[in-house]
Amino acid sequence: MIDSTTIAAIATPAGRGGVGIVRVSGPEARDVLRALVPAWPDDHPSHKLRLSRIHDEHGDLVDEALCVLMESPHTYTGDDVVEFQCHGGPIILRRVLDAALASGARAAGPGEFTERAFLNGRIDLTQAEAVADLVEATSVSAHKLAMEHLQGSLGAAIRELRTLTMEAVTLVESAIDFAHEEHVYQIEHDEVLQRVDKVIAELRDLKRRFDQGRRQREGVRVVILGPPNAGKSTLFNALHGSERAIVTSIAGTTRDFLEEEIHLEGVALRVVDTAGLRDATDEVEQIGIERSRELQSKADLVIWLVDQEQGLDDDQRRDLEETLARHIETVVVRNKIDLPSTLTADDVALLERFEHVVPTALAADGEREGMDELVGVLTGIAAELTSGEGVLLSRTRHLECVNRALEALGRAKEAVEAGMEHEFVALDLREGLDALGDIVGQVSTDDILNKIFSEFCVGK
Ligand code: GDP
Ligand code: ZN
Repeated sequence: MIDSTTIAAIATPAGRGGVGIVRVSGPEARDVLRALVPAWPDDHPSHKLRLSRIHDEHGDLVDEALCVLMESPHTYTGDDVVEFQCHGGPIILRRVLDAALASGARAAGPGEFTERAFLNGRIDLTQAEAVADLVEATSVSAHKLAMEHLQGSLGAAIRELRTLTMEAVTLVESAIDFAHEEHVYQIEHDEVLQRVDKVIAELRDLKRRFDQGRRQREGVRVVILGPPNAGKSTLFNALHGSERAIVTSIAGTTRDFLEEEIHLEGVALRVVDTAGLRDATDEVEQIGIERSRELQSKADLVIWLVDQEQGLDDDQRRDLEETLARHIETVVVRNKIDLPSTLTADDVALLERFEHVVPTALAADGEREGMDELVGVLTGIAAELTSGEGVLLSRTRHLECVNRALEALGRAKEAVEAGMEHEFVALDLREGLDALGDIVGQVSTDDILNKIFSEFCVGK
């Protein structure tokens, strides 16, 4: 896969400028330099600029410019690199490039210098991506993140997790080897789990921070759920302060869902009002319910409305239990406190297992109650969901790899705990290891690499 040709490109933007650079990289870079600058002294030190006359392939003088030979391996690409820092005119640069191509170099493709650096092990894939991000950055925060990645912060974090995972693999696989010698053996369960748990915790943390970054950019996704007639649309309207959703006392009329953005103390919430979350025979409503569940799985925060006058049915109890089990950030709104409650003691206990329970009367005949408290709770959670230090995962590609690793390691953990065959445990661990390796490009396929580097500009 390592390409030993010599590549050349104009590295500066098209157009006129004070300086324009033609960059050459590869084993023949020095020969290209000698061809273009016949007067280049053999003993001129590496990495040192020299004012030189550049000639084209016919021997005609093209420019007088600062030239430099940077010898391998301490160069951007890891190969010998030559730069001609010419006057920034398009004719000059074109002619210098043509001369370089006439003396043995070939035209570089997009991102090929950075790809060389990656293939030569100078940088990992996250750093290569950071080069592109750095060039593309249009905001100070995007620039800062790219700079951190270029320094290798993500790569270093991932490599640490790979090391831990590798240790777990070794523990498990050495147990397998002993098995062949018919020793009585045991995986060191605790030793393995300790490492796997640590990696899982760190990956979750990376994910959480990726989400924080997304929420900062796009807003917190909030979905309002609950049975028909619980008061979802009433709440949606109260939050939004408009009559956008149709409020009605007929069960199941919010067929589709509505989405609005509201702002609570500087944090944007994208609030969705859904059709009632209940098994329905009506086909139209069924579609709405499926979408409700889908929305719930994508929500950052669920507002769960309970109609205390109606009480809970078994479906709702099961849904609430499920929500608890899945650790979905949830605010339970116990609505219609102006009316008598039919909640059982068990139901009340179930609701109290949620961290946030707000009693309300959202559309009572008398005074509306609980709205201030609810808005206060939502504001606090929204602030928490968007706070956060350095976001490390910058691309969905990273997130996908992290998700794959989490799944595989989750299976490995279950397999260890269930005392399954070691081969299975090792398989899952190795899959996790590969997923982590993909982030930094340790095990990436050509397809992935082509996709990443094709997004670069030529000369990078
Ligand atoms: P949805 O189906 O969950 O969207 O429920 P709606 O918001 O359409 O409300 C259903 C009915 O309950 C409407 O007639 C509301 O006025 C009424 N409602 C909502 N909240 C309260 C409340 O706190 N107390 C009382 N008494 N009625 C309410
Ligand atoms: Zn509604």
